Amino acid sequence: MSRAGATDLHTHSLRSDGAFAPAEVVRMAAAGGVAVMALSDHDTLDGVAEAEAAARPLGIRIVPATELNTESEWGDVHVLGYFLDPADAKLEERLRWLRENRGRRIELMVERLSELGHAVSLERVREIAQGGALGRPHLAQALFEAGHVTSYDDAFLTLISKDSPAYVSRVGLTPLEAVELVRAHGGVPSLAHPRTVIGLEDRLPLLVEAGLGGIECYYVSKDPDIHHGPERTAHFLALAERYTLVPTGGSDFHGRGEHGAPLGGVPVPPGTIAALEARR
Ligand SMILES: [Zn+2]
Ligand SMILES: [Zn+2]
Repeated sequence: MSRAGATDLHTHSLRSDGAFAPAEVVRMAAAGGVAVMALSDHDTLDGVAEAEAAARPLGIRIVPATELNTESEWGDVHVLGYFLDPADAKLEERLRWLRENRGRRIELMVERLSELGHAVSLERVREIAQGGALGRPHLAQALFEAGHVTSYDDAFLTLISKDSPAYVSRVGLTPLEAVELVRAHGGVPSLAHPRTVIGLEDRLPLLVEAGLGGIECYYVSKDPDIHHGPERTAHFLALAERYTLVPTGGSDFHGRGEHGAPLGGVPVPPGTIAALEARR
């Protein structure tokens, strides 16, 4: 359920693995009552200018952001970086490196899938990504279209899961490097969907020491392991207080219905963005 004046600090467009153009995401957010929206595409700030242009006449504030995936034994550690500058050339160089790694990884996975008898064309995967960074969601869509799996989710569960022979692991930033990268470029890092981190209570002090400024306390997911009900939200709010982190939150909207909330659908306290800004 969306409310007027809502804050949504976690959204994706087709500049990474979302289904809609940045301007469309903004229009949908406006229709859902969102007043402050962070566009947080993976490894890129490319969509920010388009989102800002669409947001201006609608009176919506866009917070430039990105979500950095990381590589470690810590599970899926995703770091949201807020208030980054799309014109920061040094940052863009690092983000490009991350995107190119991801692209090569998908190329390798397409080759392995073909060897395993599940051929999809790299061209089609690129088309699905519409110029954005190639990721496993695009590959899953292509596998579904080619009839190798019965559904998008099925592709993730079988052919391209971590245990699949077609899986290629990524090369990239460690969680601490991701936090440090955001800080080094004047941004405020927040830990996304903390349930995906293995051994969070042991890792959190290290992330805080590296410069973590927030933790995503308000998060919903169709995956019950990752979803925050009231008890989990309270648990993460207590952690945020212990480490003086700003509680952040958002829909993690991709536009394919695979996540738990529509734009603006996760209640985030209105003072959140000001609290984050104070941590710059
Ligand atoms: Zn994420
Ligand atoms: Zn996300």
